[in-house]
Amino acid sequence: MARDLIFAGNWKMNKTIKEALELVNGLKRELVDIEEAKIVVAPPSTALSCVGDTIVDSNIDLSAQNIHSEVSGAYTGEISVLMAKDAGCKYTIIGHSERRKYFKEDDALINKKIKLALENNLEVIFCVGESLEEREEGRMEEVVKTQLLGGLEGISKDDLARIVVAYEPVWAIGTGKNATPQEAQEVHALIREELVKKYDQEAADSTSILYGGSVKSDNIEDLMKKEDLDGVLVGGASLEIGDFSELVKKGLSAKQ
Ligand code: PEP
Repeated sequence: MARDLIFAGNWKMNKTIKEALELVNGLKRELVDIEEAKIVVAPPSTALSCVGDTIVDSNIDLSAQNIHSEVSGAYTGEISVLMAKDAGCKYTIIGHSERRKYFKEDDALINKKIKLALENNLEVIFCVGESLEEREEGRMEEVVKTQLLGGLEGISKDDLARIVVAYEPVWAIGTGKNATPQEAQEVHALIREELVKKYDQEAADSTSILYGGSVKSDNIEDLMKKEDLDGVLVGGASLEIGDFSELVKKGLSAKQ
């Protein structure tokens, strides 16, 4: 079954408004001909609106990096789902390991955010992944399954169609140490198998599963050749026009 191929760039806490516009305008130029994959950028919240305005009518979609679990209210410093929508977002990332680690987000909170995003017509890039310690203790499967099923608690098959899962082993994020294509494939297959059990084969087969963790233009081809990898979520290598556009082009041709 054909699944969406997705190349997403998470800019994290980088880029002023001027820098964000330079980057997105460069990506628009470089990637204008890409029709076979979805391209998504997740700028910091201060640049969401201007980047959103810049990519209207382009082949690039906008994502927030996070939303709060309440729609509005006294939550100083936070961004609500309505604000993300208002800025032009089609997606939000939820459950990134940096949110889990530094902001103590647990599976219950992540599940609440996923439901809120979907209720407000924002699609979700839902991240799961084990730490190095958990992998070394032989707990990778248990951790990934717990995060996956915890985040998807109470989510229907119809709603799953608006969720993209991103497998991001924590030990590979920003470390330069990426999972081997085979290691990534094994976990992607495990995730898909869990989706079959929770939903059914059709739902699992139509869910895109991205890999994230030190993906660059020189390692993307072998990753993308794996059957259960439907794209990538990229941090560091999404911050430069040349790096990200080369990575998208190489990743796409490796899949075709
Ligand atoms: C990420 O933060 O989602 C990520 C994958 O980062 P990097 O590509 O820098 O490892």
